[in-house]
Amino acid sequence: MLNELVIASHNQGKITEFKEMLAPFGVKVYAASDLNLPDVEETGTTFAENAALKAETLANISGKPCLADDSGLCVDALGGRPGVYSARYAPNRDFNKAMTMLVDELKACGNPDWSAHFSCVLALKQPGHPVRFYEGRVNGKIIAERRGSEGFGFDPVFVPDGFDRTFAEMTHAEKAGISHRGRAVAAFLQKEFNASRL
Ligand code: IMP
Repeated sequence: MLNELVIASHNQGKITEFKEMLAPFGVKVYAASDLNLPDVEETGTTFAENAALKAETLANISGKPCLADDSGLCVDALGGRPGVYSARYAPNRDFNKAMTMLVDELKACGNPDWSAHFSCVLALKQPGHPVRFYEGRVNGKIIAERRGSEGFGFDPVFVPDGFDRTFAEMTHAEKAGISHRGRAVAAFLQKEFNASRL
């Protein structure tokens, strides 16, 4: 049973989401920065490759079980971009700039179908065990106007299917119930704790 876990991320938005989702299970959660662990460069070409790279690197350095995620926004009209390169889509990881660039690209491409999905792959590396993977996805669409102030990244321009609000107009708990990361975490909790988060 896992009783401590390092989250291999330096993204405060993601760390908060993970801490909230793992809170009911009595796991001591560390952010990578709590243990002065480095930021691992994402050199893979798939979400799974990058997640495994981060989990294995930080588990080896810390000697603790480590959970990493790699996630991104895949837009159909842009051939699935920015995908694994979502975090690096805009200069200096500037989310505001990224949203402007994305909407400009969509307006310019001429395709009125702005369907998109977020994907998330979680990789769990426990010292002495092979990496285990968990995946989640949420379908939706991009909108031109930003709405809402919660969340991070592309949340203000992403409306999930079945809703008329963006992720940034939802509470953390509501977003976690349907999001790519929430679904991947639910699969992780089911397998690792035999528990349902919802
Ligand atoms: P990662 O840290 O390499 O997984 O980068 C993920 C990037 O994808 C983020 O920097 C955001 O641009 C985008 N992204 C991933 N998940 C979300 C989300 O839940 N909301 C908004 N943007 C997200």
